[in-house]
Amino acid sequence: MSTSNTISILGSTGSVGCSTLAVIDENPQYKIYALSANNNTDLLHAQCLKYKPRYAVVADEQAFPKMKALLAQSDIDTELLTGENALSKIASDEHVDTVMAAIVGAAGLESTLAAVSSGKRVLLANKEALVMTGDLLKAAARSSGAALLPIDSEHNAIFQCLPHSDTCLSKEQFSFVEKVVLTASGGPFLNTPSDEFEQISPDQACRHPKWSMGRKISVDSATMMNKGLEFIEACHLFELEPERVEVVIHPQSIIHSMVYYRDGSVLAQMANPDMRIPIASGLAWPQRINSGASPLDLISQESLQFLEPDLIKFPCLRLGIEAAQQGGTAPAILNAANEIAVAAFLDRKVSFPQIPLIIEAVRSQIPCEAAVSLAIIRDVDQQARILSNELILKDFS
Ligand code: MG
Repeated sequence: MSTSNTISILGSTGSVGCSTLAVIDENPQYKIYALSANNNTDLLHAQCLKYKPRYAVVADEQAFPKMKALLAQSDIDTELLTGENALSKIASDEHVDTVMAAIVGAAGLESTLAAVSSGKRVLLANKEALVMTGDLLKAAARSSGAALLPIDSEHNAIFQCLPHSDTCLSKEQFSFVEKVVLTASGGPFLNTPSDEFEQISPDQACRHPKWSMGRKISVDSATMMNKGLEFIEACHLFELEPERVEVVIHPQSIIHSMVYYRDGSVLAQMANPDMRIPIASGLAWPQRINSGASPLDLISQESLQFLEPDLIKFPCLRLGIEAAQQGGTAPAILNAANEIAVAAFLDRKVSFPQIPLIIEAVRSQIPCEAAVSLAIIRDVDQQARILSNELILKDFS
């Protein structure tokens, strides 16, 4: 076994965080060093009792007193920290080998960068960090020697189908790779007529047919923005021009993505749709460990289908592809506007079809520039959030 067995989980109470702990339950050679939550103190406390980490972090400072009280009643030595600096501390601590970056949204940016800059083995489940600051993250990984391993199931599949490497970034520009194909389930509304989109409720949007996930990413799957963000992610991770990335609808979610080679060979990674599989792959890479997921039963499968995506019905996918083509701060603007629009939809302030309209309006009003520093990206992220909220109040309610 390698020595990279001591782990911090950024976002341990979310869907990916809980799946990571489930994989670790199967593999006691891994040790939990730190766990973090935004404000889900009850679950974080239960996790602390079970894993006895050195540190627990509540990112939301208002949750600190309650968590402090919960820990005080328990007979464990876990030290409680709070705030964004605390997240960066557990991401870069010298005792940590591996960091699972599983905080959803721009909130996970700083701590993911801290893990990468300190040369950790970083399991990247926070797609927004890569979408917003892909170039900066890669530059930081190159100078620190951090290994970046994609956990998003599609990118993990592509990584597994490419020639062997210990990190995404040591992959040369593969002239023999023709293109990569990202598969998309199509989400819960693949076959819903678009004139019914107006009536879609948050709960309907969160009911994904194949994957069980948090609410934000479930809405992203329903709008297909998730695939738009993954398109940007793929361009960054594998150094591919947007022309060499394609999206295909595959409703069964059995093939998680494919690599087309120059000689006509196509390599695909198949598995049940279960996040424990890419997580186990990332934790042990290049070895293999048990994930606890059930094996794929091909005989009982319905047939596998592949369809062209409908960019008119799902404009968020088009917006994602366009942001990848534009580059610079365009993906950060897209991501910020999307986070605000999705939150407003979940709060029932805007309708489902208004999500892409808000994003498009924000995009047309904020000029795209080169994403050369974290300050520029932070600034554009703030501008896009403020403008999105203004537009929602003024034009979309
Ligand atoms: Mg995915």
